[in-house]
Amino acid sequence: MAALVLVAAGAWVAAATLLWRSSVPHGLRLPDVDLRAIFSEAELSQAARFARFERVFWVLSQVALVAVLAVYAARGARFARESAAGPIGTGMLLGMLGFALVWVVQVPFQLASLWWERRYGVSSAGYLDWLVEGWFGLGAEFLFLCLALLIVMALARVMGDRWWLAGGPAFVGLAALFLLVSPYLLPETHRLDDPALLADARAYEEAEGTGPIRIDVEVVSDDTEAANAMALGLGPTRRIVLWDTLLEFPHAEASFVLAHEIAHHSRDHLPKGLAWYALFAVPGAWAIARTTRRRGGMRDPLAVPLSLLVLVVLQLAALPLENVIGRRMEAEADWVALERARNPDAARGAFRRFTVDSLSEPSPPAWAYVLLAGHPTIEQRLAMIEAWDVRQATSAAQSPPPVPGRRALAGRSPATPASRRWPRSGRGPVPPALFPRPPLASGAPGTGGA
Ligand SMILES: [Zn+2]
Repeated sequence: MAALVLVAAGAWVAAATLLWRSSVPHGLRLPDVDLRAIFSEAELSQAARFARFERVFWVLSQVALVAVLAVYAARGARFARESAAGPIGTGMLLGMLGFALVWVVQVPFQLASLWWERRYGVSSAGYLDWLVEGWFGLGAEFLFLCLALLIVMALARVMGDRWWLAGGPAFVGLAALFLLVSPYLLPETHRLDDPALLADARAYEEAEGTGPIRIDVEVVSDDTEAANAMALGLGPTRRIVLWDTLLEFPHAEASFVLAHEIAHHSRDHLPKGLAWYALFAVPGAWAIARTTRRRGGMRDPLAVPLSLLVLVVLQLAALPLENVIGRRMEAEADWVALERARNPDAARGAFRRFTVDSLSEPSPPAWAYVLLAGHPTIEQRLAMIEAWDVRQATSAAQSPPPVPGRRALAGRSPATPASRRWPRSGRGPVPPALFPRPPLASGAPGTGGA
């Protein structure tokens, strides 16, 4: 038994090591970036005020969520006794009730957050529209949870407490399914019809060897001025979605963002996200099986409320790790985009815009970085551009025949940002989720994306 655990641990480490590889040069040193030379005092303090409130609300909402689920885990059983359905039916009812509780707890916080975004001009969505649209995304999550619960309870009836051996892989299968269909869950998209951007995309795809990737535009400009982009789908359904607000960026900046999204596909970040998910889903399933044993295990519907609590706590506990992995992939996508677009000024411009329009704080406090940052901070992203620039200058100086097109980039001192204006990133994109959340997208620069 001990040998088996050792072999599994070894396989886990080997897989994680493979997945951890990145094309960002090893030991790349990020120079210090003087944010005050890039953003005005007013821009920095506005972003800080905006972000502070959002963070406080996030913390409060998570505390409320865990508290409500803890009460539900302790008292939920009484609902089960009144159920006339069979064990699986009762378990499903308890699962749905738990899901409804989670939603009800979150709504006030999300409404407050929307109020805050409207106040700062980040969103102009109506409260009612927002609530109704929220149901759309909720439907997919609800389906995911119900399917997972159904599978777990059925497996537990056959396999007892060892259901996790098959349940973990079943979660991964479900996550793959959702990743595959995720491009079809977006409302209101149309094909990109900007010839210049499409031509750039073809050039990046050719350089990266991906073959053509479908590029859609999602209409969000009625609700927000913030811009974003994301890579989603898997294999035949892989896709890039640009918010229509991104198309108002100068061409070179939108093109850099596009190169970043193509890099998510060319460097297999979505399948890798799924593989990371597998590495956490299987031990996660084991932890749920283990902690629900004293409630009779997952074959007993009374264990369902407790399993939801364990799930949410595990997810919270996995956040720092999930973010480390997300940031690693985002940094790689930034690096590849710099290599392909070869336009550091455009990259700076795009990040500056992300910062000024969606008010993400360029350098958040450490705890928020650990818990919430699925992307490198804007400060780190700007520093990487500088680092890239320095390498270009060094290699141009060393290689006698200068590569055409590199000249303009060379010779800049790292300490002096070439341009005063830069970019910032978005709200956290959706890094591949590790636990029950299906990994839907790998975000781009903006909010959920980039
Ligand atoms: Zn990204």
